Amino acid sequence: MKAPRTISIFGATGSIGASTLDLIGRNAGEYEVLALTGNSDPQALAQLAIEHRAQLAVVADEVHYDALKAALAGSGVEAAAGLQALLDAARMGADWTMAAIVGCAGLEPTLAAIECGKTVALANKESLVSAGDLMMDAVRSSGATLLPVDSEHNAIFQCLAGADLSEVNRIILTASGGPFRTKSREEMARVTPEEAVRHPNWSMGAKISIDSATMMNKGLELIEAGHLFPIGLDHIEILVHPQSVIHSMVEYRDCSTLAQLGSPDMRIPIAHTLAWPQRMASPCTPLDLATIGRLDFETPDEDRFPALRLARQAGEAGGAMPAILNAANEQAVAAFLDRRIGFLDIIAIVERCLSGYSGPRPATIGDVLDADRTARDAADRMIGPMMESVRA
Ligand code: NAD
Ligand code: MG
Repeated sequence: MKAPRTISIFGATGSIGASTLDLIGRNAGEYEVLALTGNSDPQALAQLAIEHRAQLAVVADEVHYDALKAALAGSGVEAAAGLQALLDAARMGADWTMAAIVGCAGLEPTLAAIECGKTVALANKESLVSAGDLMMDAVRSSGATLLPVDSEHNAIFQCLAGADLSEVNRIILTASGGPFRTKSREEMARVTPEEAVRHPNWSMGAKISIDSATMMNKGLELIEAGHLFPIGLDHIEILVHPQSVIHSMVEYRDCSTLAQLGSPDMRIPIAHTLAWPQRMASPCTPLDLATIGRLDFETPDEDRFPALRLARQAGEAGGAMPAILNAANEQAVAAFLDRRIGFLDIIAIVERCLSGYSGPRPATIGDVLDADRTARDAADRMIGPMMESVRA
């Protein structure tokens, strides 16, 4: 019998974490769980750690350490808390690590996992957006295998099937267009957080759901694709496809286009990264194209969704700009979810943070984190006065 493969999940209590653990739980004998991590729900984390017989559970926010320890008492699962504990967990060197913390908070743990030189399944796109050059350097120097979980990037990876990028004309990144695909700017000015998190096709965490509504998600994915598949951003196009059936496409230089299709269920790309280079059975619903009946496509509208233009500019500028874009967006999305600013303010804040920044090109992760902090502070200074106008 084969020895079980060791796995760790960063962001185990989230949406991607749940989909990953669903697959692991169905094939329990094949995996040995080393570490599971969460941020602010020690009870949920403890329950998952006990159910999946993890060696270690880490809660990022240290205020929850005592609650986690109490919830794990007598279970045999070790409890830990804080950033250092997250890094130590990443350095346990699992054969396969899921990087599914949301936001730039995942940067250091994801990088620590990459530095172990094993396989890292990457959902945490914000870390690659913020520190893509340094992260890809770490992949090369550690010999790690980085597998994209984001459905579009996973689709591109599958369509490329190891082909050389010199054979490729274009990468076509599909986008659902989000819940406000057909709304005017005037209508978007009045939407609530509840309306914005209601994605038409995918069930996801709150932050990425808002990013889908502003289409910043696609902007972040453009930059993500530029690092994973370095073909030049001018060779990566965005195509709106409201049904989310085609997850992305690769057009080769002979004009043959390959697409990857599937139901909108993140367990499909996660299963691909878990079994790679083989395949595993998944509990997902097979695609029924006759019932779906038609697939539609539209050109994205950068006037109604300026996040697309800003992200392309930040990606092309490189240096600290993608980190500034991401950090300002994270801060503004959190403020929108807290009802401190309006929906259109999110991207207005990102734009102002980008145009006001003139710092150096980051040479280290410390430099990236400095740029991230600078952008968050700048965004917070804009959010204060906007808050008063939302309340008025
Ligand atoms: P989520 O909000 O459901 O879960 C986020 C996880 O990160 C939770 O476990 C949470 O406890 C943890 N976390 C939050 N803040 C943290 C912090 N400061 N430090 C440490 N841990 C923290 O989010 P999600 O939808 O699962 O998304 C996770 C990542 O995967 C994001 O980067 C997202 O863009 C990406 N992604 C998600 C989907 C999806 O369908 N949900 C699809 C593609 C990519
Ligand atoms: Mg995606």
